[in-house]
Amino acid sequence: MYTRGRNSVFSFSSVTNSGYLYQLPFCTRSHSYLLSNLSMPSIVESSSEYDLIIVGAGVLGSAAAKAFGSDGRRVLLLERDLSEPDRIVGELLQPGGVNALTALGMEDCLEGIDGIPCHGYAIYRENEWVHIPYPVNDATGENAVGKSFHHGRFIQKLRAAARDTKNVEVKEATVTSLIKDEDDDRVIGVLANPKDGKEEKFYAPLTLVADGLFSKFRKEFTEKTPDVRSYFAGFEIKGLTMPMPNHGHVILVDPSPVLMYQIGSNETRVLIDVPGKLPSIANGDLKRYFEESIAPQLPESIPKVFGSIANRTIEIYA
Ligand SMILES: Cc1cc2nc3c(=O)[nH]c(=O)nc-3n(C[C@H](O)[C@H](O)[C@H](O)COP(=O)(O)OP(=O)(O)OC[C@H]3O[C@@H](n4cnc5c(N)ncnc54)[C@H](O)[C@@H]3O)c2cc1C
Repeated sequence: MYTRGRNSVFSFSSVTNSGYLYQLPFCTRSHSYLLSNLSMPSIVESSSEYDLIIVGAGVLGSAAAKAFGSDGRRVLLLERDLSEPDRIVGELLQPGGVNALTALGMEDCLEGIDGIPCHGYAIYRENEWVHIPYPVNDATGENAVGKSFHHGRFIQKLRAAARDTKNVEVKEATVTSLIKDEDDDRVIGVLANPKDGKEEKFYAPLTLVADGLFSKFRKEFTEKTPDVRSYFAGFEIKGLTMPMPNHGHVILVDPSPVLMYQIGSNETRVLIDVPGKLPSIANGDLKRYFEESIAPQLPESIPKVFGSIANRTIEIYA
């Protein structure tokens, strides 16, 4: 069965550094009232005091909540869906990311998720493999190590770390709009829709929008539009042994690369870059493209992963 990822269109290059910080240095807004209309409230006004509102508990939002909370700030972290995400993104954390997590005191988030240590890359091109190990870490004198995993498991650990931090409140709610001051100049809070409650307004002098690749709010602050040049088609294979275990594999075929890396003790992620217009999934063109154009170019040391592709669930990202 082929399915399209729920979030199927975005520009990879222009949005990977998501996260917008809106600062109101001296917020004059009073936070101390509860209801806008006592008889029939359609929107509840929060009575809580926050220093910072964070929209989105993904990689950035969760880590930021933990960092600011540990720093003594009162943080409200709003996430539209707190269940474990099932996405093909953010599955191989490079050594720099591991170091950053460690600096935040969040290295435990990499434990207990069946993660796979990664020691570097194996690159294949024209019948030849090239081994690129990660460099030596100057601080420790040891080779740097990354980690790959199921994205959703990692995110749940980050969210738990945020939730367990003093001063951090995590709420399941979709932020529907940013509240601006009278001059429509500064963001002073957000309007959010909790899963099981009335719309609620929250205020803080600082709002960090970390709503990810498909940001609803990005267009309010930039005129840049995504330029989609290629798509990533991803699927998972079980029980595969890669030519160089504990390494990311980049297979340079014509016209663009295939990425493979283990994300669990028994699961391997395959990501195929498909440049230009995406062949139709419905009429089988995408499957034929994989089987007829890409699979024959794969090295012999990679088991014939595309052979049974018809039954695989494929996610597409632009
Ligand atoms: C195909 C692909 C593969 C990738 N592989 C890697 C990789 O191997 N290693 C790596 O380091 N990076 C990888 N990346 C990049 C990585 O996934 C992103 O950099 C990272 O996920 C960005 O984190 P974020 O917190 O900004 O957004 P996200 O992780 O997308 O989180 C955004 C969060 O905001 C929530 N949200 C959205 N809108 C609202 C709203 N209105 N109200 C409340 N909550 C909301 C969402 O539910 C989500 O939880 C990959 C990306 C793609 C597309």
